[in-house]
Amino acid sequence: KTIRIAIDGPAGAGKSTIAKLAAEKLNYTYVDTGAMYRAITYKSIKNGLDLSSEQEIVKLLEETSIELQPSENGQQVYLDGENVSEAIRTQDVTANVSQVAAHALVREDLVKRQMVLANTGGVIMDGRDIGTHVIPDAELKIFMSASADERARRRFVDNEKRGIHIEFEELKADIIRRDKFDSEREASPLVQAEDALYLDTTELSIEQVVDEIYMLAKA
Ligand code: C5P
Repeated sequence: KTIRIAIDGPAGAGKSTIAKLAAEKLNYTYVDTGAMYRAITYKSIKNGLDLSSEQEIVKLLEETSIELQPSENGQQVYLDGENVSEAIRTQDVTANVSQVAAHALVREDLVKRQMVLANTGGVIMDGRDIGTHVIPDAELKIFMSASADERARRRFVDNEKRGIHIEFEELKADIIRRDKFDSEREASPLVQAEDALYLDTTELSIEQVVDEIYMLAKA
């Protein structure tokens, strides 16, 4: 039996790291929905759009293809056929993605695409509204969090590994700002689904969280 697993939570809680590893262990498909919001944000910036213009962005999105493909180096993101996996992780995109993701019509379009991806067998999907809107009937829902300090520390270590230097305080401020924006927006704000399991990963190792999810999925 395969199930659908929805993982939601604030920025830097470890969702994508965990979801990717758990998907490998379960032999499930991993879908990073944040990458889809990042991809349309990247394209909107590149095309010089006014990011406050919902209409302009939706129009662009309608003629945009976004594909997620698993690979040895993690999930690869293709925007209109071009690999943008690195390009969507820049500070510029990170700083602007929440504004784009707050537009109700942008969400409507991407959620439709995500619902299709959710119906392809065993799947782990991570984001902010998976348990509440994308897969409301998911067999397993996890709301993953960690203290802001720990989340910023993880981002810091992650960046350093990739040769990117951003001050800890700056990362922490960005995380807190994004959480606030995501939680307070009108269109599907970041909230824990009523039937989601709350998982605080502050004191847990990656392996511990992956094992926990694996056990829950097999239970
Ligand atoms: O997960 P990641 O940090 O890449 O997500 C980037 C941003 O995309 C989030 O801060 C949020 O504004 C938006 N997002 C969303 N709904 C999702 C996934 C991401 O609003 N399901």
